[in-house]
Amino acid sequence: MRPTTLGRRAFVGGALAALVTARALAQSAPASAGPADPTLIDDLVAANRILADQGVVDGYGHVSVRHPGDPQRYLMSRSMAPELVTAADVMEYDLDSSAVDARGRTSYLERFIHGEIYRARADVKAVVHNHSPSVIPFGVSTVPLRPLYHMSAFLGGGVPVFDIKVASGQATDMLVRDPALGRALAQTLGARPVALMRGHGAVVVGDSLPRVVFRSVYTEMNARLQAQALALGGPVTYLDDEEARRAEASVGGTIPRPWELWKKKALAR
Ligand SMILES: [Zn+2]
Repeated sequence: MRPTTLGRRAFVGGALAALVTARALAQSAPASAGPADPTLIDDLVAANRILADQGVVDGYGHVSVRHPGDPQRYLMSRSMAPELVTAADVMEYDLDSSAVDARGRTSYLERFIHGEIYRARADVKAVVHNHSPSVIPFGVSTVPLRPLYHMSAFLGGGVPVFDIKVASGQATDMLVRDPALGRALAQTLGARPVALMRGHGAVVVGDSLPRVVFRSVYTEMNARLQAQALALGGPVTYLDDEEARRAEASVGGTIPRPWELWKKKALAR
């Protein structure tokens, strides 16, 4: 009799604990801003695939979009390789980067990059974090990343470099794994479209998914071309501030063209 009684007590205790935990979780999870337009979700899936297709992300890296129904929410895939993302993998987060409805799905460790940038920058509607290979040398050397041609004119005005050791005051695992580091990164980014992260990668922002994807692709391209130009030796002539401003105004208006091409190619795979 005794073991049965104990067994029942343990069962009832366990069930109660589970109920309490479920209630606590339900209370602490932020409320949803409601379903987002399916075409935006499709664009977010496409953005993941395009970034992989264009060599900006590999098994790592992530892209998010601010929720159109509530500026305090954003949408991003669960933790997985961007190339494999589908609409069913998209999760909703608040700006503390807490998942609205995790349902057992794991989140990217560095999601705080997104939440803290959305909090700091009302103009930002989409964020990419990547380890774009050609960009890495410019985050660890004394050579600044500068606009080499019209396609990357948005780099005019300077590309800040985030040093996580300076921000945290100590050695870290290099990951932006908490809100304080996310805030420090957002502060380094300031009003700029791109910031490099020393010994890690970059963060790119924009007012739409097509623009943030465009900027991510051409930041990688510029870094590759700049290294080639520097390797030729002799002085390199970059776009000056006025050229960058003018080129950004005209090239920035043509983004739907490459976006449609990239999307078609990436989704055909
Ligand atoms: Zn990273």
